[in-house]
Amino acid sequence: MTELAFVGPPPAISEIDPASLAAWLQARGEPAYRADQVLRGAHRPEVSSFADLSDVPATLREALAEAFRFSSIRDSHAIGADGGLTAKAVHELADGQRIESVLMRYPARGAASERTTICISSQAGCAVACPFCATGQAGFGRQLTPGEIVDQVLHWHRPPWQALGDAATGHYNIVFMGMGEPLNNADRVFEAVRLLNDPQRLGIGARHITVSTSGVVPGIDRMIEELPQVNLALSLHASTDELRDELVPINRKWPVVTVINAGRRFSERTGRRVSLEYVMIDGLNDTDAQASGLVELARGWRCHVNLIPLNPTPGSRWSGTSAAGIARFVEILRSAGVTVTVRDTRGREIEAACGQLHAQLSGRSLREARNAGAAAGAVPAVPVAGA
Ligand code: SAH
Ligand code: SF4
Repeated sequence: MTELAFVGPPPAISEIDPASLAAWLQARGEPAYRADQVLRGAHRPEVSSFADLSDVPATLREALAEAFRFSSIRDSHAIGADGGLTAKAVHELADGQRIESVLMRYPARGAASERTTICISSQAGCAVACPFCATGQAGFGRQLTPGEIVDQVLHWHRPPWQALGDAATGHYNIVFMGMGEPLNNADRVFEAVRLLNDPQRLGIGARHITVSTSGVVPGIDRMIEELPQVNLALSLHASTDELRDELVPINRKWPVVTVINAGRRFSERTGRRVSLEYVMIDGLNDTDAQASGLVELARGWRCHVNLIPLNPTPGSRWSGTSAAGIARFVEILRSAGVTVTVRDTRGREIEAACGQLHAQLSGRSLREARNAGAAAGAVPAVPVAGA
């Protein structure tokens, strides 16, 4: 028997394990080296379907296309911004759920070489319900599978984007800062990280991967044990429980000091610097008192603060802190010896904050959105290949 008994759609190349692929090939009388050849071939940046596996016999290519899916993503719609340096995609999965991922390219500047960051989703929706976040406002859909997580990276790796080039040697980062709370889907996210690490696949080093969490403490402790080389970002957003209870409702379960202590454990055990994410909301969490509280939380251990100007969601009751307000906040932190950076506001014009493009397209087919975008003269997403 050459067919495997799968429930649901056939497995995608991103989720098939090499042993099952080898067994399937062996049952068809194929030589042992084929499994490696197919897996590696399907991860080459220029390959966009089984038909492109030119070193595999044509009949086998057809059989592969029948037995497996090339991607667990059924359709994608991408739009561009920042002169083609940023592109955002809404991906539709086999059951119609939609998720988002973003590609950000940073050209070489001075001594810094060119780098690429891909921001991916870990869940369709999110149950944490942070009130400033479009994903949180839309509620929870379902967990993503490891394959669905990896396929977002493969989307930008494959034609027409080919954004990673040789993933094993390029300068790129993968950040779990799209839709969802990754540590509420830890098993599948950890498996996705291992798949991304796999040298037979993309071979992306763990040090190039960042998991951002709203503060799921047991998940942080699992990262220490299971993925100590992956970077950790903690979405803090407030330095008092009173305010954080409102901004990051999961704080009622794991309050500020508990989360900070988990971050300290992570940095002590792994030797890695933790990033404290802090979205700047005008008049709410950008006060001098909040800044002083943040100084106390951030001092004395290996962390740095990353300030993110709020990207207001449609109908939001809040707006982002002004440049002057951010500068003042930065000064309070810096003068107290806390390392602080301000994140650039990439992709504002394409609703690049988590969950926003998805919300805008809700109820429309991606094909319809593509056509409407073209008619309205929306900024086309510029493929990276050959750039
Ligand atoms: N759930 C995880 C990861 C996804 S959200 C987490 O919360 O960390 C990734 C980051 O985007 C978080 O720091 C989140 O607070 C931030 N974010 C969400 N909505 C935003 C908005 N409207 N403007 C700016 N940052 C936002
Ligand atoms: Fe979920 Fe993160 Fe959005 Fe909060 S900010 S609702 S945790 S995705």
